[in-house]
Amino acid sequence: MSEEQKILVENPYHTARLKPVRKGKKPPKLLAVVHQSGCTGCEVCIQGCPVDSIELVPGPDASNPAFRQTVEIDLSRCIGCQNCSQDCPWETITMYHHDDAFIAWGNETLSSELYIEEDALEQLNSEYGISLKKDEETEETA
Ligand code: SF4
Ligand code: SF4
Repeated sequence: MSEEQKILVENPYHTARLKPVRKGKKPPKLLAVVHQSGCTGCEVCIQGCPVDSIELVPGPDASNPAFRQTVEIDLSRCIGCQNCSQDCPWETITMYHHDDAFIAWGNETLSSELYIEEDALEQLNSEYGISLKKDEETEETA
């Protein structure tokens, strides 16, 4: 494989992590995935989600984040109700079987705030004054 693979990790600082987690032992059969290339960021889908699992992804210009914003769905909280796929005026949300949804997410997600590259997490940790290395050293000396 010639192209270097990017490793994504959960962004622990995203406000979605403060929201209630999905209840129930079994994951839903279907999960919703946004095809971000077709998303206009209109936010219609957000209004109809009963578990508030659709998150805004700001556009590339930090001074005007609403311009070219898009959305992504937190697969760990989606309950598969299909509201969003029916509501989207641009038909850019598809329901996938649970096991296929993660591959589809990888193919269709152009920009994510819920999952970030490992390097970006290290950067965030240092901005928040958190050093994993330091924690390990503290454990060793405890
Ligand atoms: S399928 Fe339902 S629960 Fe999942 S993101 Fe869409 S509206 Fe929310
Ligand atoms: S309704 Fe469709 S186009 Fe509008 S923000 Fe949601 S996914 Fe994007």
